This record gives sequence, C-alpha cells and structure tokens, in this order.
Amino acid sequence: MKKIAIYGKGGIGKSTTVSNVSAALASMGLTVLQIGCDPKADSTRNLTGGKNIPTVLDRLRENTDIELEDIVFKSSTGVICVESGGPVPGVGCAGRGIITAFEKLEELNAYEIYKPDIVLYDVLGDVVCGGFAMPIRGGYADEVCIVTSGEMMSLYAATNISHAVKSFGKRGYASLRGYILNAKNIENEDELVDKVANENEVDVIYRIPRNPLIQEAEAKGQTVVEAFPESSMTKDYRKLAKTLLEGGDSIG
Ligand code: ATP
Ligand code: MG
Repeated sequence: MKKIAIYGKGGIGKSTTVSNVSAALASMGLTVLQIGCDPKADSTRNLTGGKNIPTVLDRLRENTDIELEDIVFKSSTGVICVESGGPVPGVGCAGRGIITAFEKLEELNAYEIYKPDIVLYDVLGDVVCGGFAMPIRGGYADEVCIVTSGEMMSLYAATNISHAVKSFGKRGYASLRGYILNAKNIENEDELVDKVANENEVDVIYRIPRNPLIQEAEAKGQTVVEAFPESSMTKDYRKLAKTLLEGGDSIG
C-alpha cells in the first residue's frame, strides 16, 4: 500500500489533481482510497457526481456509533471516497476533523477491509499544524507532494510546507517527493517554479497544463479522466499517476 499526501495553497488545484489521479489509477485497475482532509469536504466532489458526500465529522455528530458504510463511498469511477469534514465554522479546530477521521477509519479497519493499493490524502495545507500535519506524521503518508503554480503565494506556501515536511522528515515521518506544477499560465512559470524548487532542493515531478476541459468536466460533476477519457489532459493525469506510483515504497 502506497500512501501519498498532496498539499498546497488554497485554490491551487489539489482536489482537481488528486481526484483526476485517483480516477486514472482506478481506471488502471488499482484500488484507490481518496481521503479529503479539508473542512470544505469537496475533495471527492468530481468523483461523486458533483455532490458532497457526508463527512466523518457530520456522521459522528449524528451518531457516535457509526459503521464504515456511513463514511466510505465508492464513486462511479471505482474510487473509494472519504471526507473528514470539519467543525461548525467558528467553533473548534479545523484540523481536529482530520485526526478524528483517521482514528475512526483505523478503528473500523478500513485499510484491512478495502485493501487499497494506494491512499491519496488531499490536504488543505497553507499552514502545516495540528490536524493538517497528521498525514505527514504518525505513519499515515509515506510521501508528500505539493501542488504549486508560478504564482508567488503558491510558491510561498510550497516553501513553507517543504520546510515543515523536511523538519518532520528528520524524525522519520513522510518524505517530500516533489512539486506538481499546476499551470496558471503566468509568464516564465516554469522558470519561477524551477528556481524555488532548486532553492528548496525539491524535484518538480510533473507539469500539468491549464486546460478548460477541467471546467467542462466539473460542470458535469466529473473528473476529466471520466468525462474526456481520450483527451490530452487525461493522458497527463495518467502519466502523473504512473509517476506517483514509481519510486518510494512498492505497492502490495
Ligand atoms: P481548496 O484549497 O479550496 O480545496 P484546491 O487546491 O483543492 O482548492 P481545486 O478546487 O482543485 O483547488 O481547484 C480550483 C479550481 O481551479 C477548480 O475549480 C478548477 O476549475 C480549476 N483548476 C484546477 N486545475 C486546473 C487546470 N489544470 N486547468 C484548468 N483549471 C484548473
Ligand atoms: Mg480542495
């Protein structure tokens, strides 16, 4: 089982990237578990027909005695979807939902029952503290990838997250696999990202082009991989999926 956490600035394209990669991996016959670690709970939205699934925290608020079927949903693309959820806005710590969800999935033996080949965590992580650091710590993720564009703020977040992962890494937690460039088509974007990647001694493992097909697929509540399987964008997500599978721990 390979476990990868995807971080990056708010709105940079984490959920789009993760759900397309999940759909690509599922189409290759792998069992994929995608865990949304964001109080917005929209990570898996384009895998589940554009609708948000009930979150672990929502279910636990209704009833503390829940079962896996209450919090785990299989998408039409075959991806197994979970959303941690979060507290009622303004009340409590947003990261707490992630900790609670992880503990619940373990308690209910989700990993033994679903036997995923790969687990992808989609983490809103401008600040890697509290629950948002959970995927990196405690043996949850083996590797971290950071989604960034050439925009200053996303590179700033990428740098902060890189430092956090590296400082955790020294203590034997998840390692930093690399940056995924999700293009915003700004001037000199490749150079800008390469420069920061060099400074931080991180590889740029893939460059995803900007493509309006993403919005077209989104309007149908789908990933591009599902809506436009023959598109060049689907090929890109399949290549990224294969890149993520290579290296690090083997599956099985
Ligand atoms: P949040 O931090 O709010 O969860 P996020 O990092 O998960 O955001 P997404 O929701 O995946 O970001 O992406 C934001 C928007 O950017 C999406 O609605 C999508 O339409 C668009 N987008 C992402 N990647 C691409 C791309 N490669 N080409 C075109 N549009 C894209
Ligand atoms: Mg998101």
